[in-house]
Amino acid sequence: MKVVKFGGSSLASGKQVEKVFQIVVSDPKRKIVVVSAPGKRSPEDEKVTDLLIECARLCLQNKNPQEKLNTVIERYAAIAQELNLSEEIINDILQDLQTRLTADKRNPDKFMDLVKASGEDNNAKLVAAFFRQQGVEAHYVNPKEAGLFVSDEPGNAQVLPESYDKLFSLRERSGIIIFPGFFGYSKEGEVFTFSRSGSDITGSILANGLKAELYENFTDVDAVYSVNPFIINSPKEIKELTYREMRELSYAGFTVLHDEALVPAFRAGIPVHIKNTNNPNAPGTKIVYERDNTNGPVIGIASDKGFCSIYVSKYLMNREIGFGRRLLAILESYGLSYEHTPSGIDDISIILRENQFTPGMEEEIVDRIKTELDSDEVVIEHSLALIMVVGEGMRHNIGTTARASKALAKANVNIEMINQGSSEVSMMFGVKEIDEKRAVQALYEEFFAAVAV
Ligand code: ASP
Repeated sequence: MKVVKFGGSSLASGKQVEKVFQIVVSDPKRKIVVVSAPGKRSPEDEKVTDLLIECARLCLQNKNPQEKLNTVIERYAAIAQELNLSEEIINDILQDLQTRLTADKRNPDKFMDLVKASGEDNNAKLVAAFFRQQGVEAHYVNPKEAGLFVSDEPGNAQVLPESYDKLFSLRERSGIIIFPGFFGYSKEGEVFTFSRSGSDITGSILANGLKAELYENFTDVDAVYSVNPFIINSPKEIKELTYREMRELSYAGFTVLHDEALVPAFRAGIPVHIKNTNNPNAPGTKIVYERDNTNGPVIGIASDKGFCSIYVSKYLMNREIGFGRRLLAILESYGLSYEHTPSGIDDISIILRENQFTPGMEEEIVDRIKTELDSDEVVIEHSLALIMVVGEGMRHNIGTTARASKALAKANVNIEMINQGSSEVSMMFGVKEIDEKRAVQALYEEFFAAVAV
């Protein structure tokens, strides 16, 4: 049995829904279908979820959401019309939205989630109706009825572990199940959504709960690429990579799958297969527990801008018990998360995304690290890019760092920082943002250009 998830662009029009239908019925193992809300039909188009967020915002500001609401309805109506579905479906969607928009607004975040979640909820009903119209037994299943329970954190819900056992009983249902992605219910029976793009998470939770043999995630690209296609033209496709490699690569250009979506599948040892709705015969990319290493040490190169490093030095830091804990506790008290912490005997750098700082926070942090930890030097360096060179094959391969740093030197890129992940699956290079593109190109050239595809 397979769990199949389709993203917003795979369901953006009637034509796309027809493709989804063909893909599902072409394999009898595809029993559970998780759907997103209709996404963009073209780069200028708007996602239904974004329109819904706007509707909810207007309501919360006591403004009239009618225009946005009409646009949402028009999106569903266009799909229904293309698919020759009855108007009743659209009336039901309109009624559902009107009910949601008049719901209790005393907690604005909860209200927002209730409205946002309607995008996938109504789309699942529409898709189920289309499957039935095609003569296939298909049922819309609501997450509450199925037992998908989540924490009551608006816009950032986490699955409650007891959900997994409950979801297992979905296996007994007949026909194809059409399940809305992106949200679950709290113990109190209220709607809470995952973070944005969270339908990927729903699919992974269902794959785990139902003990599926495979979680297929259909999107609009042929594969996960070995490097961001915006930096290198037609880069090499990755056929297979491990969960760990996928995690290390989770920066710009590798966001095909939601970060949190790997965990449930990984815990149950279920492979994830990324495939293209618009080209279902392409082999796609499989994310697995282990893979054969046949393609050289590096599987992918990811990078991202917008980082800064807090450099802290103090003589005899290595002997001071609790220094690191106290340093990180200062960051914790501001709610900051960090990515890497390269360190030396008497110094440590903490690398974090600089968009987390609010005005004045930076100066305050520097001051506290200086005074509370009696540090010799505290310097924040801005506008850094991180480059991750990733591959399980690096573990047993001598000279990968040498090859990478030589390539960077040849491209005249100064390495500000370097860190080898303890797992030896990744290497991190910190460079100035202006050098990012050149650095990635040089590394790609070094590790991939010579490798036969
Ligand atoms: N529709 C939601 C979003 O745009 C969730 C998803 O598509 O996965 O974030």
